[in-house]
Amino acid sequence: MKYDVAVVGAGAVGSSVARRLAEDADVAVLEKELHLARHQSGRNSGVLHPGFNYEPGSTKACFAVEGTRRMKEFCRSNDVAVEECGVYVAAHDQDDEERLRELKQQADENGVEAEIVSGEEMREHEPHAAGEAALHAPEAASVDSVKYVHAVAGEAEDQGADYYMDHRVNAVSEGGSRRHRLESSKGAVEADHVVNCAGLHADRVAGEFDVGEGYRVVPFRGEYYELTPGRTDLCRSMIYPTPDPELPFLGVHFTRRTDGKVIVGPNAVLAFGREAYRNNSFNIRDLASTFGYPGFWRLMADRKMLAVAWSELNRSYRKKKFISAAQELVPDADAGDLQRSYSGVRAQLVSRDGDLVKQPLVETTEHSTHVLNAVSPGLTCSLPYGEHVAEQALDQL
Ligand SMILES: Cc1cc2nc3c(=O)[nH]c(=O)nc-3n(C[C@H](O)[C@H](O)[C@H](O)COP(=O)(O)OP(=O)(O)OC[C@H]3O[C@@H](n4cnc5c(N)ncnc54)[C@H](O)[C@@H]3O)c2cc1C
Repeated sequence: MKYDVAVVGAGAVGSSVARRLAEDADVAVLEKELHLARHQSGRNSGVLHPGFNYEPGSTKACFAVEGTRRMKEFCRSNDVAVEECGVYVAAHDQDDEERLRELKQQADENGVEAEIVSGEEMREHEPHAAGEAALHAPEAASVDSVKYVHAVAGEAEDQGADYYMDHRVNAVSEGGSRRHRLESSKGAVEADHVVNCAGLHADRVAGEFDVGEGYRVVPFRGEYYELTPGRTDLCRSMIYPTPDPELPFLGVHFTRRTDGKVIVGPNAVLAFGREAYRNNSFNIRDLASTFGYPGFWRLMADRKMLAVAWSELNRSYRKKKFISAAQELVPDADAGDLQRSYSGVRAQLVSRDGDLVKQPLVETTEHSTHVLNAVSPGLTCSLPYGEHVAEQALDQL
């Protein structure tokens, strides 16, 4: 099997890359799972983040603003459910209110619709939400992310891309009649160019090309509760806390999904495996990878990160702690209203210096392109980000 380009990983990003590549090249997509969206792209909050949260002019801001609008359109024309409900970012004290003004300024600079409303005005729409004031961003929406990935992959296939499911890429070598030979669990595929979109394993695939040595994926699990069926009226749209700009995670929040469920979370707890979806699962190789990485210890040397890691761990094992974070937003939600739901694991890229990489990051060699960081809101950004990556790869063909 010989192709111009092989894409490793068929999540939201890999499938978006394949969709654009297939317009101009012969494309194979190798995915280790039997089904699509088994990892980050199918285990997330499904929120389209319209872009008020991101530094004006940054890649993330540009992709999020464009991504939100395009994804709504894409979902509408592909019969993928979208709930266009908007978000309230609630402020609880003076510092939060100051931060809301900064967010409003960012929203204006990024061209995102947003207004600051009083707590009373927020409660006209979200009667159970607590807060002195809130930023209301009506463009925020939630989508069915699993169906979305299927729709993007479907379009990639319609353009001619061949999907090889249940094909885990284990090694890449030179040779054959094309530049690269990808050895997979189900046979080899040859290609002139490789685009690595392997998400939680992207650093390992990059390692096959001696790329990305200054970074490693450190997995952080996000666990969700959901409101019990009789109590979903506690949140009609989305209620978020004011974000801490130093942290890459948004804090426990309430999100109304397209299926009518209201999810509460996610927290952000260090996972003992890249696919450790439960708090008692672990993987020895992944544990060694995290704990043997100097960048991880440099990250944890930061007192604030250590305190956050400890408190998140507590929220994972003690429902009471999770509930109190939720009650800061919706005081009427009590323990009986929340039941455990699903979880996802974020591929958080950490540099050797111990910094959390917060912007999308792509590294290339002459004949390969590596999406090392497709950090949140990677789902929102996936259409423009995937196209950007595909065009970089096409330039090199
Ligand atoms: C808890 C959580 C909440 C989030 N919430 C949001 C949100 O509300 N909004 C938003 O915009 N973003 C959100 N995100 C981020 C978003 O989900 C990700 O940025 C995005 O899904 C990344 O897509 P991906 O294609 O890079 O990764 P993935 O979806 O992880 O896809 C990578 C694929 O590569 C495959 N793979 C890996 N290794 C190999 C190999 N060796 N061979 C073959 N295949 C391989 C995997 O099986 C997988 O299917 C959230 C993420 C998490 C975890």
